[in-house]
Amino acid sequence: MNEVTIVGTGPAGLTAGIYAARAGLNPVIYAGIQHGGQLTTTTDVENFPGFENGIMGPQLMADMTKQAERVGTKVIYEEITKVDFTGPTKILWAGDQKIESKSVIICTGATAKTLGLDNEAKLMGRGLSTCATCDGFFYRNKVTAVVGGGDSAMEEAIYLAKLCKKVYLVHRRDHFRASPIMLERAKKTANLEFLVPWAPLETLFDETGLTGVKIKNSENGEEEDLVVDGLFYAIGHTPNSGIFQDFVDTDSHGYILVNDFTKTKTPGVFAAGDISDSVFRQAITAAGMGCQAAMQAQKYLEESEG
Ligand code: NAP
Repeated sequence: MNEVTIVGTGPAGLTAGIYAARAGLNPVIYAGIQHGGQLTTTTDVENFPGFENGIMGPQLMADMTKQAERVGTKVIYEEITKVDFTGPTKILWAGDQKIESKSVIICTGATAKTLGLDNEAKLMGRGLSTCATCDGFFYRNKVTAVVGGGDSAMEEAIYLAKLCKKVYLVHRRDHFRASPIMLERAKKTANLEFLVPWAPLETLFDETGLTGVKIKNSENGEEEDLVVDGLFYAIGHTPNSGIFQDFVDTDSHGYILVNDFTKTKTPGVFAAGDISDSVFRQAITAAGMGCQAAMQAQKYLEESEG
């Protein structure tokens, strides 16, 4: 029986592992299909404190994994596929393998939606990004485009407009999901140009990375090559909460609702990182929540063992 089982090896899961291990709880982490989480799909990370010259996302996650292992966390490279949190003993399955645990920390994160255009995977971090806060800095005084018509797109476009020479907001229809106030703010931004109704059709690139995006007018079918240095998708995220739905409360988008710092509605089950945070979605905030969840799990175990 595990004391603490952690699901997911992004910054939240690994930080939870570090804290739980140092508290003597012998945590076991299941890495899932994307070991290291979303940071493994980025390049330079310059906003995680402690690295004067920044660090590559995959390197940060590799180091965090080694740190967690060094202090005693066991990392298992398998995916949790099913759970049953009905009783006091939490049961998880990795395929056919059944795992029993006294407590569980869910750190399965969220996956940024992509458009599914050709070559997206190889351009990610090389001109293509799903996070302006993370990568916008690399496009100072350059030209970028943001895809989407929701609050995220407005927020990212306004953020980029402060850094970039010019920003295009590319949205497939002339109605917006964004709140009126965000839309208004974006429309008032001088170097932000709205291209509606236009939808991305294909990525343009050379050996250095992305060079632009071919867009198509949704009304008249006209096509145009938009030359940009950076293309940012802001078309939403999918929280990876599917297998936990029966045992936690979620909001209408599937983000796990927590109270009292990472507690879900099921005693002994905690959630940390992007799986329960649709607002900040940063590595550092995820790491902070991972710390909170480990300390809450420790408290739960102490209290339940009297
Ligand atoms: P969202 O509201 O679901 O908007 C997603 C946008 O992406 C929509 O405009 C959608 O277009 C577009 N889109 C989706 N799939 C696409 C595709 N395949 N091709 C082209 N466009 C596509 O997502 P979000 O903006 O990430 O916001 C999620 C939630 O977080 C919302 O509740 C939002 O209010 C909240 N949020 C709030 C703030 C804030 O208050 N500061 C900031 C960020 C997010 P269509 O409209 O045509 O479907």
